[in-house]
Amino acid sequence: MSNSQDFIYLSPPHMGGKEQCYVQQAFDLNWITTAGANVDGFERELASYLQLPAVAALASGTAALHLALLALGVGPGDEVFCSTFTFVASTNPIRYVGATPVFIESEPTTWNLCPTALEQALENRHRNGKLPKALMLVHLYGMPAQLQEIQEIAQQYKVPIIEDAAEALGSRYKEQLLGTFGKVGAFSFNGNKIITTSGGGALVSSEEEIIQQTRWLAMHAKDSLPYYHHTIMGYNYRLSNLCAGVGRGQLEVLEERVQQRRKVFENYRQLLQDVEELEWQTEPDGFFSNRWLSCFTIRQGSRITPEELRLQLLAANMESRPLWQPMHLQPLYQGCDYFGEHTSDDLFNRGLCLPSGSSLSVSDQERVAEVIRKAFSA
Ligand SMILES: *Cc1c(COP(=O)(O)O)cnc(C)c1O
Repeated sequence: MSNSQDFIYLSPPHMGGKEQCYVQQAFDLNWITTAGANVDGFERELASYLQLPAVAALASGTAALHLALLALGVGPGDEVFCSTFTFVASTNPIRYVGATPVFIESEPTTWNLCPTALEQALENRHRNGKLPKALMLVHLYGMPAQLQEIQEIAQQYKVPIIEDAAEALGSRYKEQLLGTFGKVGAFSFNGNKIITTSGGGALVSSEEEIIQQTRWLAMHAKDSLPYYHHTIMGYNYRLSNLCAGVGRGQLEVLEERVQQRRKVFENYRQLLQDVEELEWQTEPDGFFSNRWLSCFTIRQGSRITPEELRLQLLAANMESRPLWQPMHLQPLYQGCDYFGEHTSDDLFNRGLCLPSGSSLSVSDQERVAEVIRKAFSA
């Protein structure tokens, strides 16, 4: 009997096979710490993939975003514009550095930052005489934001972009990999992301100086003296050499994982093409999503709510999740300024993420699709 009735997770880790070799090497050399050949190798290999001179391997994507803000000199009294439709890890670091987030709405095509809302917000701050210190731009579920329009507007006001590409490793906009558009970019290698180090992240930039400064800050900002001498406050944010070993194995299969996740999305779309209530996150021409998660919204006025569907899937041993609850609706961020038309409120109310792992079998996908089809035909 196969184990085909086992619980189907949303986005489980998917090892490539070489991870344990790299971890074993770390044991063999006894480099069980936050430095070593795997950290160096992981940084080199990720940089090469992204075609950047260097990257900084860190303990999490959140740490990368924290150091990204510091790299741009964001501090108390500053505002940072941020996609409202995101995970809280995009916005908390803005508060870590004592700055204030201002939330910008999504547009309905990509579900990412709306260029028009951004323009309105920048005009408003320009009139008031103080522009934001940075724009935190998120590529949700791997889908590129409208980069050309957003870059043009941000450049016009000279506001640097931090790309939160935590969910978007391997995605491209007009052939260029996401994470490499902003002045700095951040990736996450948390267990649920497209590739994982179990827990980890990276800060990337085309400016090597930023990478060096970031590594230094991530190791307590120790001045180069034989004794422990510190001029500024640093952090303990370096990636472990064991985790980096996992990451090196995962990087070898990254492109395969992207193709597999895209295939999962295409399969769902085909299997569910006759369910007219479903509206899938669209990928415009020139946009290439890694399809980290396969998600849809349920058409207005449908008999089934996303929550009912989630519970039916759960009863059938399948994990699904609502789309991110936007930041402007979080009690944590109550009272923050907000620009836009509440597009993400609607996405949150009508959306659902399906099991999307790159290891998901076709037969398991058929089981998921069957539950959904039944729910809508009942
Ligand atoms: C996962 C994620 C992060 C944070 O990454 P961690 O490695 O979990 O700290 C940040 N932003 C977004 C959009 C994410 O999905």
